[in-house]
Amino acid sequence: MEINNTIKSIARFSQKIKTEYINKRDLETFVDSVKRLGEKVVVVDVRNNTFFKTKQGFGPRELAKTLAAKNIEYMRYPRLGNPYHQNYKEEPKKAKLVYTNYLRVNDDAHAELNHLYGNLRFKKTFCLTCYCDTLDPRKCHRYWLREALINKKRERLGFPATFSVHQWNEDPTKEETEVEN
Ligand SMILES: [Zn+2]
Repeated sequence: MEINNTIKSIARFSQKIKTEYINKRDLETFVDSVKRLGEKVVVVDVRNNTFFKTKQGFGPRELAKTLAAKNIEYMRYPRLGNPYHQNYKEEPKKAKLVYTNYLRVNDDAHAELNHLYGNLRFKKTFCLTCYCDTLDPRKCHRYWLREALINKKRERLGFPATFSVHQWNEDPTKEETEVEN
Protein backbone atom coordinates (compact mmCIF):
# COMPACT_ATOMS: atom_id res chain seq x y z
CA MET A 1 0.00 0.00 0.00
CA GLU A 2 1.22 3.49 -0.84
CA ILE A 3 2.36 5.54 2.16
CA ASN A 4 -0.32 8.25 1.81
CA ASN A 5 -3.05 5.66 1.63
CA THR A 6 -1.62 3.94 4.67
CA ILE A 7 -1.72 7.17 6.68
CA LYS A 8 -5.25 7.90 5.45
CA SER A 9 -6.28 4.41 6.40
CA ILE A 10 -4.98 4.85 9.96
CA ALA A 11 -6.66 8.27 10.25
CA ARG A 12 -9.94 6.85 8.98
CA PHE A 13 -9.69 3.95 11.38
CA SER A 14 -8.97 6.30 14.32
CA GLN A 15 -11.99 8.47 13.49
CA LYS A 16 -14.27 5.47 13.77
CA ILE A 17 -13.41 4.80 17.39
CA LYS A 18 -14.99 7.14 19.92
CA THR A 19 -15.49 6.93 23.66
CA GLU A 20 -18.34 7.82 26.04
CA TYR A 21 -19.05 7.53 29.74
CA ILE A 22 -21.99 6.65 31.98
CA ASN A 23 -21.33 8.21 35.41
CA LYS A 24 -23.31 11.36 36.23
CA ARG A 25 -25.57 10.81 33.23
CA ASP A 26 -29.10 9.54 32.97
CA LEU A 27 -30.01 7.05 30.28
CA GLU A 28 -31.50 9.66 27.95
CA THR A 29 -28.43 11.91 28.10
CA PHE A 30 -26.17 8.95 27.45
CA VAL A 31 -28.19 7.67 24.49
CA ASP A 32 -28.35 11.18 23.00
CA SER A 33 -24.59 11.64 23.21
CA VAL A 34 -24.02 8.25 21.61
CA LYS A 35 -26.53 8.93 18.85
CA ARG A 36 -24.73 12.12 17.92
CA LEU A 37 -21.56 10.17 17.06
CA GLY A 38 -22.74 8.97 13.68
CA GLU A 39 -25.35 7.28 11.54
CA LYS A 40 -24.49 3.70 12.44
CA VAL A 41 -23.20 3.52 15.98
CA VAL A 42 -22.14 0.47 17.95
CA VAL A 43 -21.82 0.87 21.70
CA VAL A 44 -18.92 -1.27 22.89
CA ASP A 45 -19.46 -1.80 26.59
CA VAL A 46 -16.05 -2.26 28.23
CA ARG A 47 -17.12 -2.25 31.85
CA ASN A 48 -15.51 -4.94 33.94
CA ASN A 49 -18.50 -4.94 36.26
CA THR A 50 -21.93 -3.58 35.32
CA PHE A 51 -23.68 -3.60 38.68
CA PHE A 52 -23.47 0.12 39.36
CA LYS A 53 -26.41 2.09 37.83
CA THR A 54 -28.31 -1.06 36.83
CA LYS A 55 -31.42 0.48 38.37
CA GLN A 56 -31.06 3.48 36.07
CA GLY A 57 -31.24 1.25 32.99
CA PHE A 58 -27.52 0.71 32.46
CA GLY A 59 -27.50 -3.05 33.01
CA PRO A 60 -26.33 -4.81 29.80
CA ARG A 61 -29.67 -6.37 28.88
CA GLU A 62 -31.76 -3.25 29.41
CA LEU A 63 -29.17 -0.99 27.85
CA ALA A 64 -29.01 -3.19 24.74
CA LYS A 65 -32.80 -3.00 24.44
CA THR A 66 -32.92 0.78 24.85
CA LEU A 67 -30.17 1.24 22.27
CA ALA A 68 -31.77 -1.20 19.81
CA ALA A 69 -34.94 0.91 19.90
CA LYS A 70 -32.82 3.84 18.73
CA ASN A 71 -31.12 1.76 16.04
CA ILE A 72 -27.85 1.60 17.95
CA GLU A 73 -26.00 -1.72 18.21
CA TYR A 74 -24.62 -3.01 21.48
CA MET A 75 -21.65 -5.28 22.14
CA ARG A 76 -20.15 -6.19 25.47
CA TYR A 77 -16.54 -7.09 26.26
CA PRO A 78 -16.29 -7.47 30.04
CA ARG A 79 -12.65 -8.65 29.95
CA LEU A 80 -11.67 -5.39 28.29
CA GLY A 81 -12.60 -3.62 31.48
CA ASN A 82 -9.83 -2.61 33.81
CA PRO A 83 -9.65 -4.80 36.92
CA TYR A 84 -6.78 -2.69 38.29
CA HIS A 85 -8.63 0.60 38.02
CA GLN A 86 -8.88 1.35 41.74
CA ASN A 87 -5.27 0.46 42.51
CA TYR A 88 -3.69 2.99 40.18
CA LYS A 89 -6.00 5.99 40.29
CA GLU A 90 -3.26 8.25 41.57
CA GLU A 91 -0.60 7.06 39.15
CA PRO A 92 -2.03 7.40 35.65
CA LYS A 93 1.29 6.67 33.93
CA LYS A 94 1.68 3.36 35.68
CA ALA A 95 -2.01 2.61 35.13
CA LYS A 96 -1.66 2.67 31.34
CA LEU A 97 1.26 0.26 31.50
CA VAL A 98 -0.59 -2.04 33.85
CA TYR A 99 -3.69 -2.08 31.63
CA THR A 100 -1.88 -2.65 28.34
CA ASN A 101 0.19 -5.36 29.97
CA TYR A 102 -3.03 -6.93 31.25
CA LEU A 103 -4.34 -6.99 27.64
CA ARG A 104 -1.21 -8.85 26.58
CA VAL A 105 -0.87 -11.42 29.32
CA ASN A 106 -4.51 -12.20 30.16
CA ASP A 107 -5.68 -14.70 27.53
CA ASP A 108 -9.37 -13.83 27.87
CA ALA A 109 -8.72 -10.11 27.61
CA HIS A 110 -6.40 -10.66 24.68
CA ALA A 111 -8.99 -12.81 22.90
CA GLU A 112 -11.63 -10.12 23.42
CA LEU A 113 -9.26 -7.47 22.08
CA ASN A 114 -8.70 -9.51 18.92
CA HIS A 115 -12.41 -10.23 18.60
CA LEU A 116 -13.29 -6.55 18.90
CA TYR A 117 -10.56 -5.57 16.44
CA GLY A 118 -11.90 -8.14 13.98
CA ASN A 119 -15.38 -6.69 14.31
CA LEU A 120 -14.48 -3.08 13.52
CA ARG A 121 -16.09 -1.95 10.28
CA PHE A 122 -15.45 1.27 8.39
CA LYS A 123 -19.08 2.14 7.85
CA LYS A 124 -19.87 2.13 11.54
CA THR A 125 -18.73 4.23 14.49
CA PHE A 126 -17.64 2.28 17.55
CA CYS A 127 -18.09 3.88 20.93
CA LEU A 128 -16.00 2.42 23.76
CA THR A 129 -18.08 2.90 26.88
CA CYS A 130 -17.32 2.68 30.60
CA TYR A 131 -18.35 4.48 33.77
CA CYS A 132 -15.51 7.01 34.23
CA ASP A 133 -16.75 10.55 33.74
CA THR A 134 -13.30 11.85 32.94
CA LEU A 135 -12.06 13.48 29.78
CA ASP A 136 -8.48 12.98 30.93
CA PRO A 137 -7.03 10.22 28.75
CA ARG A 138 -4.58 9.25 31.48
CA LYS A 139 -7.33 8.34 33.92
CA CYS A 140 -9.51 5.85 32.09
CA HIS A 141 -8.79 2.60 30.30
CA ARG A 142 -11.19 3.33 27.45
CA TYR A 143 -8.59 5.76 26.02
CA TRP A 144 -5.81 3.15 26.29
CA LEU A 145 -8.02 0.54 24.71
CA ARG A 146 -8.68 2.94 21.81
CA GLU A 147 -4.94 3.47 21.52
CA ALA A 148 -4.33 -0.29 21.60
CA LEU A 149 -6.77 -0.81 18.72
CA ILE A 150 -5.16 1.99 16.67
CA ASN A 151 -1.73 0.53 17.43
CA LYS A 152 -2.92 -2.83 16.17
CA LYS A 153 -4.00 -1.17 12.93
CA ARG A 154 -0.65 0.64 12.63
CA GLU A 155 1.25 -2.60 13.09
CA ARG A 156 -0.89 -4.46 10.58
CA LEU A 157 -0.06 -1.76 8.04
CA GLY A 158 3.65 -2.07 8.72
CA PHE A 159 4.21 0.97 10.94
CA PRO A 160 5.97 0.65 14.27
CA ALA A 161 3.45 0.82 17.10
CA THR A 162 4.10 3.03 20.12
CA PHE A 163 3.40 0.00 22.26
CA SER A 164 2.48 -3.55 21.43
CA VAL A 165 -0.27 -5.73 22.82
CA HIS A 166 0.50 -8.74 20.66
CA GLN A 167 1.22 -12.08 22.23
CA TRP A 168 4.41 -13.89 21.28
CA ASN A 169 2.76 -16.23 18.78
CA GLU A 170 1.09 -13.53 16.72
CA ASP A 171 2.48 -11.84 13.66
CA PRO A 172 1.17 -8.26 13.68
CA THR A 173 1.85 -7.74 9.97
CA LYS A 174 0.00 -10.82 8.77
CA GLU A 175 -2.33 -10.23 5.83
CA GLU A 176 -5.54 -8.46 6.63
CA THR A 177 -8.41 -7.73 4.29
CA GLU A 178 -10.35 -4.55 4.90
CA VAL A 179 -14.01 -5.32 5.21
CA GLU A 180 -16.18 -2.48 4.00
CA ASN A 181 -19.52 -3.26 5.52
ZN1 LIG B 1 -13.12 3.88 32.51
